[in-house]
Amino acid sequence: MVLLISFITLVVLLLASNIDAAKRLHNVLARLHGGADSSNDSDAVADEIRDVVIIGSGPAGCTAAIYTGRAMLRPLVIAGYMAGGQLMLTSDVENFPGYRDPISGPMMMDDLKHQAMRFGAEFWQTNVQSVNLSKEPFEIVLNNCTVKARTIIISTGAEALWLNSENEEEFKGKGISTCATCDGYMFRNKPVIVIGGGDSAMEEANFLTRFASEVTLIHRKDNFRASKVMIQRAYDNKKIKIKTNQKVVKWLGSNGILSGVIIENTADGSRETLHADGAFIAIGHKPNTEFLKNQLKLTDNGYIALSEHTMTSIPGVFACGDVVDSRYRQAITAAGSGCQAAIDAERYLETKH
Ligand SMILES: Cc1cc2nc3c(=O)[nH]c(=O)nc-3n(C[C@H](O)[C@H](O)[C@H](O)COP(=O)(O)OP(=O)(O)OC[C@H]3O[C@@H](n4cnc5c(N)ncnc54)[C@H](O)[C@@H]3O)c2cc1C
Repeated sequence: MVLLISFITLVVLLLASNIDAAKRLHNVLARLHGGADSSNDSDAVADEIRDVVIIGSGPAGCTAAIYTGRAMLRPLVIAGYMAGGQLMLTSDVENFPGYRDPISGPMMMDDLKHQAMRFGAEFWQTNVQSVNLSKEPFEIVLNNCTVKARTIIISTGAEALWLNSENEEEFKGKGISTCATCDGYMFRNKPVIVIGGGDSAMEEANFLTRFASEVTLIHRKDNFRASKVMIQRAYDNKKIKIKTNQKVVKWLGSNGILSGVIIENTADGSRETLHADGAFIAIGHKPNTEFLKNQLKLTDNGYIALSEHTMTSIPGVFACGDVVDSRYRQAITAAGSGCQAAIDAERYLETKH
């Protein structure tokens, strides 16, 4: 009935050439149809100044949405190109508190999103192209509209770099991982390989020796970027075999289960097949901060620099999760800092009233 009356009003408004009012009503109808989870970022609602806009919908963004939602701030979450964040790439999450049994990453993220929606958070399935933080309210430029906000919480994460070798897509999250802390436990008494030549690769290799039967560390050069002490620790560890001048050519396996890898000697082109049940790519992370260039302070390696707590160099703009954290990179630490950013944003808004 409500929809019918709204539709008739829409037609009347269009006939009366009140295009602006008609667009607004159309948008309300679209959102009624799609619930609070709408991909519609039509310019009809862009005039509204939001209290909080959250950029990113991983564990940090969703947690910030739960907290700001419960604070009655009606947060708008711009979910981004990977709605749900990095956990959408993983099959089982076993270390997020509150789940007795393993839960699939996508299911867990769906729970978090719906928990936030229950408190009035709105999710838009679109990307932020750029922001203007030089004036208040801040402006957030989307594909086809600009949203204004009194505060922004940035939780855009840091993407793990992948090799993009043959068959990699097939085994991502099903044998191939970028996080030993997250997935190492699943490879108890099994052979695994680690790819990379920096401190992270050494750290991952050492850590994995707690579980794996053996760890083969593969690096495409003959010298490592890692610190001397980390390299020495890897050489001293009897469970680690080191192979230099090697690159991954192709991942092997069947029915979505990884069984090994073909590697190639970068010096003489000879190939070798290694058996491995798990592989950990540790070649670095790239924080998703390109859309922020020249708007706020970043660290030398592109992460958002925090001044105090979750505050960035711009008052009213907060950041949380992996986009500020090159150390822990866990769902729970991201969620924890999402809570902190939400509380900081709430308190900031209180000082403005
Ligand atoms: C394969 C894999 C398995 C993992 N397993 C585990 C595990 O078992 N346990 C664990 O604790 N951790 C795990 N992690 C790590 C965990 O996923 C991350 O630490 C966590 O997701 C970080 O949360 P976040 O919210 O900071 O960022 P992310 O989850 O990375 O989310 C970033 C969000 O920002 C959005 N975004 C980016 N750019 C833009 C833009 N321009 N505009 C709008 N939105 C944008 C993306 O769409 C995404 O929604 C795993 C990671 C990977 C890659």
